[in-house]
Amino acid sequence: MLLNLVKVKNEEGIVQQFSVEMPIDVDLIRERGYEILSPVSVKGNYYYQNEELFLTATAQVTLMCVCDSCAEHFEKVFIFPVKETFVEDYNVKNDDDYVINHMTVNIEKPVIDNFIQSLPTKIKCKDDCKGLCSVCGKNKNFFSCNCEEIENIQQQLENPFGKLKN
Ligand SMILES: [Zn+2]
Ligand SMILES: [Zn+2]
Repeated sequence: MLLNLVKVKNEEGIVQQFSVEMPIDVDLIRERGYEILSPVSVKGNYYYQNEELFLTATAQVTLMCVCDSCAEHFEKVFIFPVKETFVEDYNVKNDDDYVINHMTVNIEKPVIDNFIQSLPTKIKCKDDCKGLCSVCGKNKNFFSCNCEEIENIQQQLENPFGKLKN
């Protein structure tokens, strides 16, 4: 996805708004257990100053996630910031610098990089997810069982000092 720089390069410091939709398919995101269900929509602005382009945006994408607590699949609108600087090709110092190609920049890589960095390592279907029963494995959000209660009682019976505690 290319952004046109003609206007911002003609007039340094002028802020250009933009809004784009880009389909993204990244193995690394799939490997982390997320499925991408929508294009990534990126909205923000950019300006050019002293041979550098400054971009600030917010990206939004719908993901299919797996709850780390109850293992259910659920959809989530995931929002992440994209804030990057691009340098002219003759000013590149590091391999991972984002480069300005004459009158355009490609924002695909910075969007993907920020996407991956923002992905949480643990995710829950809801804040108060009850998780799975450690005994029968049922999803406690949908089923109530008293396995854990029974196990507690059994442990107390098996433990000869259990009665003393009571
Ligand atoms: Zn859950
Ligand atoms: Zn149970």
